[in-house]
Amino acid sequence: MNTYDEIIQLALERGFYFPSSELYSDANAGFWEYGPNGVRMKNKFLELWRRELVRRDNMLEIDGSQIMSKNVFMASGHLTNFTDPIVKCKKCSSSFRADKLIQEVAKIEVPERLENEGVDDIILQNNIKCPLCKGEISKSERFNMMFKIEIGPNRDEAYLRPETCQSIFVDFSRLFKVSRGKLPLGIAQVGKSFRNEISPRQGLLRLREFYQAEIEVFCNPAKLNDLNKYDEIKNTLLRFYDTRIVELSVEEALEQKRSCQIS
Ligand SMILES: [Zn+2]
Repeated sequence: MNTYDEIIQLALERGFYFPSSELYSDANAGFWEYGPNGVRMKNKFLELWRRELVRRDNMLEIDGSQIMSKNVFMASGHLTNFTDPIVKCKKCSSSFRADKLIQEVAKIEVPERLENEGVDDIILQNNIKCPLCKGEISKSERFNMMFKIEIGPNRDEAYLRPETCQSIFVDFSRLFKVSRGKLPLGIAQVGKSFRNEISPRQGLLRLREFYQAEIEVFCNPAKLNDLNKYDEIKNTLLRFYDTRIVELSVEEALEQKRSCQIS
């Protein structure tokens, strides 16, 4: 048994977390319950997060709705871009996330924004077959990872938010007024997010419903000198991932106009 299996075993035995709907045979993968010890541990983490980040830097904390309207995700680009490449086995019809399949079988890292044709080429060149039945793999398609839902008797289209930052951005102008229009402004939120993962992992690593503790700091890029803590962190190293991992200081990252998300 490896360390990861031991952790899962211990978590189950001591009630830290366990699979959701586990009494029933149609329970879906990727949903977990926190038991009493798990909730205690999560609350401790959140206390630390609030004390050391949110309150220390006078950020505003919000608690937004988990269901948001279609136009929010049209505007954010999630409806068209929040997708993973998916392939199917032509023989047993199993679905796989193409980049993960390639990584597991051929040990090749697939860049996140690679087009479908690029994904298909790698599968063909490396002769990748279905890991379950050795069947042939279909061409890749795009699968949107948001959970679509219907609201009211008119079944209006809406979505479960795929990340907590969405309400932070949508609420920004109101919060900016509430805080008397001063930048920099940090807005924090902890809450559930939802992603319709193609192949959720055992345990809490890749879930379909999960907590995020997220902070967005808004500042005026022309007035970086106003960020009185900038000097403290400008030499801190951050890791960026595109086709490979690059380590840059905050200062270098700003000069190169890199963007990153830490959640
Ligand atoms: Zn198969």
